Amino acid sequence: MKNVKSKENGIRSRQHRLRIRISGLRADAIVVSHPADVRYLCGFTGSNAFLLLSAESATLLTDSRYTIQAKEECPSVRVHIARRSLLTEAGAFLARSRKKQRVIFAPGQLTVAQFDALRKAAGSKIRWKGVPSLVAELRAVKDAHEIGEMRQAALLASEVFSELLPIIRPGTLECELAAEIEYKIRRKGAEGSSFETIVASGPRSALPHARPTSKPIAKNELVVLDLGAILRGYCSDITRTVFVGRASRRIREWYHAVLEAQSAAIGVLAPGVTAGEVDAAARRVLRRHRLAQFFTHSTGHGLGLEVHEVPRLGRREKTQLAQGNVVTIEPGVYIEGAGGIRIEDDVVVTETGPEILTSAPKEFLEL
Ligand code: ZN
Ligand code: ZN
Repeated sequence: MKNVKSKENGIRSRQHRLRIRISGLRADAIVVSHPADVRYLCGFTGSNAFLLLSAESATLLTDSRYTIQAKEECPSVRVHIARRSLLTEAGAFLARSRKKQRVIFAPGQLTVAQFDALRKAAGSKIRWKGVPSLVAELRAVKDAHEIGEMRQAALLASEVFSELLPIIRPGTLECELAAEIEYKIRRKGAEGSSFETIVASGPRSALPHARPTSKPIAKNELVVLDLGAILRGYCSDITRTVFVGRASRRIREWYHAVLEAQSAAIGVLAPGVTAGEVDAAARRVLRRHRLAQFFTHSTGHGLGLEVHEVPRLGRREKTQLAQGNVVTIEPGVYIEGAGGIRIEDDVVVTETGPEILTSAPKEFLEL
């Protein structure tokens, strides 16, 4: 019960913060269509919905498949079951307003055709203002309830990794490991994986986004495992790299360089630090080990209701981190022919230092 209550309080405070932002932009209302944004603002988990939020009201429009669900999930908003297309009805809702209104929408979340339909249905009293990431920016700062949920999702993924270790051995197929990971994620109560599980062995581990194949794991190979769970809506994302057999000195050195880069980036996470500075901290360590050229992606990304959120921790990113951001820190090196190494954790930015949510061991494991 306490959990339900803290979730409901969280939702009301999100709506309140969004209203402040809307009036700060001298607008009257916002139309929210991205499912994760809708869920964040009113708790609705269905796939087809629009949320209209103004200073005075909050209305969720969805279709008749969700009549019962919307009533159960969204006590803080008025629910309207649309008989026609949601776009037409959302527009018609706005058209009822007696005075001229300025309404915010996120251009990246509507197709041109959808926006045209909405604008036509809303009529001439509505002036539209495109604001790219208003809700995304709110979502980047997690409240205590959300961090609690993310702790559980991260713990679940960490347990899956640890339970997997006994079956990572020569002869096991990459796709068998991926299937086992996804089965364990669901058996532990998650809704599913937060992205397509990555299992990449030997030379294939040098592909940062390798799909699992029917390749058997061989002796003396690196294996990269990148997995995540969605638990009560919130995502986790963890990568570990292990070695099957006895590793050469060179591979151990690479591993320890990546681990050092990861620790350095985690070490600088604090409110006020820019995303680019976190990325630079990882890159600096790899440069010292002459491995910077093999680190071909950004250092991390925000994590929450979606697996990739703002802030992006990339080169020269100016966004300042804030208390309550949850980000991944995942430097890696990818060396064609030899293999790849990546180590990834989920971390909360706090005033008192980073809190690492993922707990699987990071020492170099030779299986
Ligand atoms: Zn990952
Ligand atoms: Zn990631």
